[in-house]
Amino acid sequence: MAVPPLDARDDRDDDAPAPGAPDVAAATDRGARGIGRAIQGVTWVLLYLAVVITPLVVALTADPPPGRSFWLEFSVGLGFVGLSLMGLQFAVVSRFSSVNAPFGLDAVLQYHKAISFTAFAFVLAHPAIIMIRDTAQLELLNPITAPWRARFGLISIVALIALIATSLWRTRFRLSYEAWRVLHGVMAVVIVVTALLHIQQVGYYVSGPWKQTLWIVSSVVLVALLVNIRLITPIRLLRRPWTVHSVRADGSDTYVLTLRPDGHDGLRFLPGQFAWLRIDRNPFSIHENPFSMSSSADRGDHVEFTIGVAGDFTAGLAAVEPGTRAYLDGPYGVFTYERNEGPDFVMIAGGVGIAPVLSMLRTLADRGDRRPCLLLYGAPSWDAVSHRDELERLGGLLDLRVVYVLEEAPDGWEGEQGMIDAGVLDRHLPRAHGRSRFFICGPPPMIAAVEALLEDGGVPREHVDHERFDIL
Ligand SMILES: Cc1cc2nc3c(=O)[nH]c(=O)nc-3n(C[C@H](O)[C@H](O)[C@H](O)COP(=O)(O)OP(=O)(O)OC[C@H]3O[C@@H](n4cnc5c(N)ncnc54)[C@H](O)[C@@H]3O)c2cc1C
Repeated sequence: MAVPPLDARDDRDDDAPAPGAPDVAAATDRGARGIGRAIQGVTWVLLYLAVVITPLVVALTADPPPGRSFWLEFSVGLGFVGLSLMGLQFAVVSRFSSVNAPFGLDAVLQYHKAISFTAFAFVLAHPAIIMIRDTAQLELLNPITAPWRARFGLISIVALIALIATSLWRTRFRLSYEAWRVLHGVMAVVIVVTALLHIQQVGYYVSGPWKQTLWIVSSVVLVALLVNIRLITPIRLLRRPWTVHSVRADGSDTYVLTLRPDGHDGLRFLPGQFAWLRIDRNPFSIHENPFSMSSSADRGDHVEFTIGVAGDFTAGLAAVEPGTRAYLDGPYGVFTYERNEGPDFVMIAGGVGIAPVLSMLRTLADRGDRRPCLLLYGAPSWDAVSHRDELERLGGLLDLRVVYVLEEAPDGWEGEQGMIDAGVLDRHLPRAHGRSRFFICGPPPMIAAVEALLEDGGVPREHVDHERFDIL
């Protein structure tokens, strides 16, 4: 059995106040914010759909040019939709907090990935249909003899194929994350700009003041999005510098980095959220890495991160000197109990997945919130467990039970050993977990396994939240 069965206490009235819950006004306020986010989400989706189909509608509102077949018109329509989807990708990944708030950056990025395949299919279908219907058009694939209108289209499609291939097989191409990001951005611009040039050169559907206006507006919006990402956001960050206060080792290959705001009031975030960090680099630099805050959301005077060594950037942390300049772009993310309130919490962390969980526990402690919390904390060994003292301190402030699950236990260890599996859940989950809120953060296989076990045990999907450190 994966998860213990719910006992009779789970028949409690859902509206009954939870023991130790925060005040009703705050809960009502959060409820109102939740409704606000839902409305925001629906609005964005409708706006998105409108933008996707607008070029198609505008293009086809006039009489089609004479003598053109249905299939030709159809293929042009597919091309327009594909281009709209590609252009909108810039808005999707532009880190606007109002876009991310209703869905979460994780979901937004998953969507970004998934929709790029759909856009690819639409874009590719456009020349494919034309060439299948009229094989003489295959000559347009020869970049030496083809006219510029076809060359631009060809460049756009080749760049799109390259963008998808390098994203799917980045490591096979031996591209560092940073090199891939630069390439990805450049290719995305090339795809959209050459596609617009292709449309302009072909000349159908873009004549007339309305249609011209549409294309000009689309191009201006695209440039504005790029300027926002590459210029306005960095300038905003430049005005809010941070200073490294300390870097200390805690657990094997794990560092605790503390930053202090330099001349501003710090970062306001929800416990569990993350920010993009740059150390010793200006905000225009492409080098930035996402990390969850592990400090309390209620301590504005500093921000702490718990960082595991994974590669170049994280391995260099040990050498970072106090006083080094840093920049934070954030907060982002929806992995927070503030968006998924319940009468009690079950937090399941693996390795550095403890970071956002710790932020939630510390914030609960700072707010005097005594709702029951269970922390299942998996680590390779006892030495690898970070923040042991802090968890003990929090145990004295919260209604918190910590269960360590060690892959390799020291001699005499009487606690849990192995992985966080069905047996561990069976032994430790509260019997009345029907209304508990679950927060899982750790290696992707751990998240997948635990979520499957919870689902098998009948835990409602909406009660389970996870944060993946490999979303990008
Ligand atoms: C939302 C989120 C929150 C995270 N929170 C934490 C945390 O609290 N503690 C922690 O230790 N780790 C966290 N991570 C993971 C952390 O961002 C990566 O381990 C780190 O960026 C690796 O950088 P590197 O240069 O040391 O390693 P590399 O060897 O360069 O990268 C290892 C892997 O990390 C990812 N990665 C590398 N650079 C970036 C980048 N600039 N942006 C995004 N991903 C990148 C790539 O998938 C890469 O394959 C988080 C990741 C995400 C997405």
